[in-house]
Amino acid sequence: MEVPLIGQGTWMIEGSRESELRAIDAIRTGLDLGLTHLDTAEMYGSGRAEELAGKAIARRRDQVFLVSKVLPANASYDGTLRACERSLQRLGTDHLDLYLLHWESSYPIRETMRAMEKLVDDGRIRFAGVSNFDVAQVKAAQAALPHHRLAANQVFYHLKGRGIERKLIPYCQSQEIAVVGYTPFGRGAFPPPNSTGGKALASVAERNGRTVRQVILNFLTRLPNVFTIPKAGNPEHTRENAGATGWTLPEEDGAAIDRAFPAPSRDTPLAML
Ligand code: NAP
Repeated sequence: MEVPLIGQGTWMIEGSRESELRAIDAIRTGLDLGLTHLDTAEMYGSGRAEELAGKAIARRRDQVFLVSKVLPANASYDGTLRACERSLQRLGTDHLDLYLLHWESSYPIRETMRAMEKLVDDGRIRFAGVSNFDVAQVKAAQAALPHHRLAANQVFYHLKGRGIERKLIPYCQSQEIAVVGYTPFGRGAFPPPNSTGGKALASVAERNGRTVRQVILNFLTRLPNVFTIPKAGNPEHTRENAGATGWTLPEEDGAAIDRAFPAPSRDTPLAML
């Protein structure tokens, strides 16, 4: 199935009534513009983000590739099944397109993945995946899923955090596991306009008639099989983010970004928020 490279996150969309209405509007604007990969989790706002996502996709569920996540503390066999039902209820749907283990749990991965297989078999989820897993953890999750394939691994990926390009992305590509990068704007690590990196981005943006954020999102989805899910609680931001796709960054501009934000030259532990 086809899933757009740029999706929408929902972490911290809850808040005042006004900001929640704006966030719902932002998600709907994104859906109108093709950002139909919608990422949420039972953790976000203790379920509130799922409720808001549910409102945003009401009556257009079939247009959305809907993703949610089970908390590691709930990821026993029975706990995963129950958590999924609660998420479905909050989202107002009868199935998820993708269900992820949010990060490694103290429950054995075999237990969580056995529950994932049951959820697929029962039609409650279409695909199973993980989040914040390094290569060894991905291999263990694959081994724990004998009857269905592991569809995705959602991990931290931004310009100043490109460690996954060394081993994790190539391994996932070889296995046809989608890599979904989260927090593309780096949360606190967004390049200031006056920094060397910020200036490099600004000139690439200007040369291409794009904004800096569009250049960042485009760069972060340049590798095959790699997606990104920026969160925007403001419809104007969603519009801007939607303009990050459908065009190709010229090679020399990709090289300029590479020089300004080099990937590490040695293996690094998987970073997570
Ligand atoms: P992010 O998407 O990198 O950044 C979100 C921030 O960027 C918000 O403050 C948003 O502001 C702002 N923003 C977005 N588009 C903008 C634009 N065009 N212009 C100006 N500002 C813009 O960070 P994130 O929310 O941490 O990550 C994205 C999603 O990834 C999350 O929402 C969540 O779904 C997922 N995630 C997953 C994990 C995991 O462990 N699996 C961890 C973290 C995040 P406004 O809200 O005001 O628009």
